Amino acid sequence: MSELALLGGPKAVTCDTDLNSPMKKWPIFTEEEENAILDVLHKNSMSDTGLAKEFEAEFAKWMGTEYALGFNNGTASLLASFYGVGIRKGDEVICPSVVYWAACTSLLSLGAVPVFADLSRDTLCIDPDDIERKISDKTKAIIVVHYLSHPCDMDRIMAIAKKHNLKVIEDVSHAQGGKYKGQMLGTFGDVAAMSLMAGKSFAIGEAGMMVTNSKEIYEHARALGHYERFTENTTTCEDLLPYVRMPLGGYKFRMHQMSAAVGLVQIKYYDERCKEIRKAMNYFWDLLEGVPGIRAHRTNEAEGSTMAGWYAAHGIYVPEELGGLSITRFCEAVRAEGVFECTPGANLPLHSHGLFKTADVYGDGKPTRLAYATRDVRELDKDLEFSNVVGKYVYNIPWLKKYIPEEIEQYANAFKKVALNYKELLADDPGDPEHIGAWHFHKANK
Ligand SMILES: *Cc1c(COP(=O)(O)O)cnc(C)c1O
Repeated sequence: MSELALLGGPKAVTCDTDLNSPMKKWPIFTEEEENAILDVLHKNSMSDTGLAKEFEAEFAKWMGTEYALGFNNGTASLLASFYGVGIRKGDEVICPSVVYWAACTSLLSLGAVPVFADLSRDTLCIDPDDIERKISDKTKAIIVVHYLSHPCDMDRIMAIAKKHNLKVIEDVSHAQGGKYKGQMLGTFGDVAAMSLMAGKSFAIGEAGMMVTNSKEIYEHARALGHYERFTENTTTCEDLLPYVRMPLGGYKFRMHQMSAAVGLVQIKYYDERCKEIRKAMNYFWDLLEGVPGIRAHRTNEAEGSTMAGWYAAHGIYVPEELGGLSITRFCEAVRAEGVFECTPGANLPLHSHGLFKTADVYGDGKPTRLAYATRDVRELDKDLEFSNVVGKYVYNIPWLKKYIPEEIEQYANAFKKVALNYKELLADDPGDPEHIGAWHFHKANK
């Protein structure tokens, strides 16, 4: 009989794999959050801003930035950041193609032009060499996403930005609290924005946060969708003063007070909980060091770089070391061992979606992405070699929240067993479909 569960052998994972088990449960809420939410209800202050401002102050202190501004979601915090750094019609903005759509899609509403860059194979983050190749005299900014919790190569990116006088917007939605060479992610660029929605590692419900050290960026970002806080008393930028008390974008971006209330509790425990997650995840990867076909997606902690709360944990697949076994078949065998999370792929590349190819959203008579462009930037998408196939080289792994060695060993053994017995899987390998991955990650819902 085969050792592999897929071929009739015993399962490697026999522990409780439920998403509500101590190992998997996230976020962790206690009576403290419940009381904080009830307090908002009892005070009838759901749409006020007091708690949001308190949470912003705590968040800025935690990040070490001058300013923090709360939003109703991460998507809005990104749009306001784009506006805040001065991105306007016709500006080209470089961003990774393999990423969740909110990292860049709202650029279209500003008339800006997304220019996609490829990923680095080891970090799965934007490739600095490709950023350089995509720069033109129209380039205004770079959006970097610390993807799947991995910090981008900020040394190189900031050097490129400086050389070409470009703004840098960090999307920290996957990596709140993570560090690059000892420095907090979100404090390298001109501004950082992030989601704090319920599925992320810093999870407080529907909410987003923007942080910056620039008063000008802060005030301009606030003017777009925070009309009640955009006043003559709080505004110092001359160009904004004539327009106070109206949201310049016609948006309303206020954070819900229940989210702020949860945030004020979560922020007290977040770093400590992330530390435990990293201990668990690093142990998982340590157990798999040297196993053929398998590479960790993680940082060099000795350098002071961390994977934050290890949101959307993924592994890197090396099929050449497993006789070319497809990732589809590999993951099928790992799932059979009892690791239900192990699915192939990450986000599908945005440049392959019709929204960035043909859609005329605002009636410009041409694709929205090109409405104010001076060149057909879709031509540049042809070079996104790794982005087009990234799904064949990455897979989901369990997001482990507790250091319980016996359980972690079971998970690691599932991967190891499949990798070491790969030859038995080659015969019935159906190969990979053309597209692997999804536009958005799904979480089991009730
Ligand atoms: C979740 C996410 C966002 C959007 O945040 P919302 O709070 O869902 O609006 C933006 N960028 C990335 C990379 C994300 O994962």
